Amino acid sequence: MLTLKDIFKSLKIEATDERKKLISKAFEFAKKAHQGQKRRSGEDYFQHCIATAKILAEIGMGSKTISAGLLHDVPEDTEITLAEIKKEFGKDIHDLVKGITKLGKIKLRETKEEYLLENLRNMFLAMAEDIRVVIIKLADRLHNMRTLEFNPPEKQLRIANETMEIYVPLADRLGIGEIKAELEDLSFKFLDPKNYNELKEMRDTYYKEGEAFVKQAIKELEHSIKKKNIKIIKIYGRAKHLSSLFLKLKKHEMDIGRIYDLIAIRIIVPSVADCYETLGVVHRKYRSMVGRIKDYISLPKPNGYQSIHTTIFGPKGKIMEVQIRTQKMHNEAEFGIASHWIYNENKKRSWKNYFRQQETFTENELVWLKQLREWQNEAGRDNKEFMEGLKIDFFKNRIFAVTPKGDAIDLPEEATPVDFAYAIHSEVGDSITGAKVDGKMVPLDYKIRNGQIVEILKSKETKLPNTKWLDFVKTSNAKSHIKKQIKREEEKANS
Ligand code: MN
Repeated sequence: MLTLKDIFKSLKIEATDERKKLISKAFEFAKKAHQGQKRRSGEDYFQHCIATAKILAEIGMGSKTISAGLLHDVPEDTEITLAEIKKEFGKDIHDLVKGITKLGKIKLRETKEEYLLENLRNMFLAMAEDIRVVIIKLADRLHNMRTLEFNPPEKQLRIANETMEIYVPLADRLGIGEIKAELEDLSFKFLDPKNYNELKEMRDTYYKEGEAFVKQAIKELEHSIKKKNIKIIKIYGRAKHLSSLFLKLKKHEMDIGRIYDLIAIRIIVPSVADCYETLGVVHRKYRSMVGRIKDYISLPKPNGYQSIHTTIFGPKGKIMEVQIRTQKMHNEAEFGIASHWIYNENKKRSWKNYFRQQETFTENELVWLKQLREWQNEAGRDNKEFMEGLKIDFFKNRIFAVTPKGDAIDLPEEATPVDFAYAIHSEVGDSITGAKVDGKMVPLDYKIRNGQIVEILKSKETKLPNTKWLDFVKTSNAKSHIKKQIKREEEKANS
């Protein structure tokens, strides 16, 4: 049973009276609102809210975000309205909770096509409007995944698949390595239980065999490092995550003996100079494996990851990896909104292509990216609530509308049902007779808003596009199709 104390104990920010007061207030409010509600597991519903808030505290979020985490299911699942939350907690927390409630409506349905998945991820970000909303949603999903076993099998598969396709890539882009890895491993467990269980047993056995050696190495290294007057912030052993292990094993004919980073010792020291000095200490203590020293401090990985890795023959010749980094590098790798996004996207497609209809970055996009990077640089340096006001202006001129099947369609602002229809298929555009938005009939020049569900009504036989449509359509795709059809009809009439 989690309590308020567990949230306080997990705080990475300074636990000032003011912050504790706000979190306590949200705690009591949400507790009362969810009174009597149970989860499928049989525990109180409110436990889920505390767990979500605790995850947010662990990754270093501020008190407003943690409070919104406590309140995140209140409007959807209780009698209390968003207006009451606004009255009680103010606009900021209200906006966060409202954002989460909106995002709850985005669900992965049958889509397998990568560009539609990409649209869906972008729609998720565009509708969130604030990066903190996305992070709360990730924490919410993480706890739901941790407790997924209590759901019926089809739901397990659906949720695990959605997590893999939407939430894992988002956590990855935001550089929140810890959440990404755990979400990925939990999805793996439900989507491919056979491989997951085999692998887990193999890894755990292997790790257990090595554990005594790891403990001994930690003790010996601690001693040697301290003798050099280097302060150790943290030193601990860790087993590799299963998803990344599985990928690596597939590259090495499933031979676990060839995976040298299956067990690793992580050493966190104050400065970059300490990192190199520690590396010297490690190599004097244990023989290192030739060609396995990787200096990601002087040459960071493309995603910004920094650390020194070396593979050593530890006590009794046991092979293990040692990872040395500063606290700042550690925070970035585990929870930072790292630069994953930019680099990963660059690899897959050019930026120009990514913003298909925008030739250059707008000022706002740059500001947002800059803010993200600044956050990354400042995280861990002091205790300010860096996430304040990180608005997502990234998709400022784009909207995402949804088909009744749940596919997200990427459109420019003020796009109409005719644009939507042509974006699906030219034949759908040519035969449009009407449209419903969120279940209600609308005129064809209706301006679609973010997240609306658009249903296109078609005539049986292909109809002629109307010249008047040219006055209101927004996409060049729709325009050119309409013109082409009209021209074709004119030629037919003249021949
Ligand atoms: Mn929830």
